[in-house]
Amino acid sequence: MLITNGTLITLGAENQIIENGAVYIKGDKIADMGTTNTLARKYPREDKLDARGKIVMPGSVVGHTHFYGAFARGMAIPGAAPANQPRNFPQILENLWWKIDRALTLDDCRLSALVCLADAIRHGTTTLIDHHASPNAIDGSLDVIADAVLESGLRASLCYEVTDRNGAAGARAGIKENVRFIKKNRNSQSAIRNHLGASFGLHASFTVSDKTLDQCLAAAQGLNTGFHVHVGEDISDEDDSLSKYGVRVVDRLHARGILGSKSIAVHCVNADAGEIELLRQTKTHVAHNPRSNMNNAVGVADILGMLRRGVNVGLGNDGFSNNHFQEMKFAYLLPKATRRDPRVMGADQVLQMAYGNNAKIAQAFWKPRIGELSVGAFADIILLDYIPFTPLTAGNFPWQVIFGVDGAHVTHTLCAGKLLMQDRQLLTLDESAIAAQAQAAASQVWRRVQAM
Ligand SMILES: [Zn+2]
Repeated sequence: MLITNGTLITLGAENQIIENGAVYIKGDKIADMGTTNTLARKYPREDKLDARGKIVMPGSVVGHTHFYGAFARGMAIPGAAPANQPRNFPQILENLWWKIDRALTLDDCRLSALVCLADAIRHGTTTLIDHHASPNAIDGSLDVIADAVLESGLRASLCYEVTDRNGAAGARAGIKENVRFIKKNRNSQSAIRNHLGASFGLHASFTVSDKTLDQCLAAAQGLNTGFHVHVGEDISDEDDSLSKYGVRVVDRLHARGILGSKSIAVHCVNADAGEIELLRQTKTHVAHNPRSNMNNAVGVADILGMLRRGVNVGLGNDGFSNNHFQEMKFAYLLPKATRRDPRVMGADQVLQMAYGNNAKIAQAFWKPRIGELSVGAFADIILLDYIPFTPLTAGNFPWQVIFGVDGAHVTHTLCAGKLLMQDRQLLTLDESAIAAQAQAAASQVWRRVQAM
């Protein structure tokens, strides 16, 4: 396929804008790029997708998400009369998330994944790194989600969060599900592996005992996998680690061998200088989720400090909408508001996190590059009908994104060279049918949550 007549924004190591640009896609990768005139002459017989002057850029990459949380949207928190409202993060977990996840069936896992995937396609997100929990439907849950991902045509890495909060049997089942899925994914055909990745999920330090951690490490032996774990999201995680183990969370995980270049430490809101240094030394990736951190009132991660020290910080959404352009805006605004300094956090740094740094995280799962338009990269491409009314340059594009570009501008989404949305019509998923099924399922989930 040849995408023609677009304004190409390449991103990548050196962002370039190619006016009247074209992208030649062969199979699932970008095989050539240049001007429309040149490429139309070179590939005269190819099917053409006329971008009609739209922006053509890489699909968004979400460094951390929870498909399973979809049914929380609009749900009343049980017992949330003002006097009973959750006052802190542990209470939010107990009153909301640890009820919702226990209410999920395998079919709910499938539907909550599908609504998130449809949302992702619609808003131009093509790669997602998911962290799943469904304590009463653990076995096979990652297969159900994987099927949804394959049906959608997107790219996602999956894991199951191991935790002690559902007893020893629950922890063992979580370990088994990770191991089973990692092995299955490794042995699947390359066409499937190009869409699916796998890692070993852990909920967080404060819900995983040393004994369970040992079991996870033993189970992960020889799997060549990294861990995907929430780290110091709230101060209570650090308190727990200090009181039980005498060390901070990152120190504990490091001593156990959880960190490394395939591992993702999510949030790190409370990481101190020593912990940040350990993250850097071990090349552990960090996923920053500003909307979630603001919503849970857990504090503000020292993202600027981490970036300055060379930690690879990517951008996730922690289950918020998959319109990743929204997350970028919050990542830009949050440090300015809290530091009271308009100079901190440039839009270029935000886009570096959202594309370049997230692409580095994704390298743990997929070798061809993503997050950029370049020859050899996966053809994960979106078209946007954003019409700039000020000069658009390679240098100011990040600021155009923060102040103007949104997922609502996305008209076409391609992943692995395949069109998933054309002129805002989803091609692989029946959005309204999925939403109708999800509404019915969500009301049942809400009923079960209220009864807990
Ligand atoms: Zn999370």
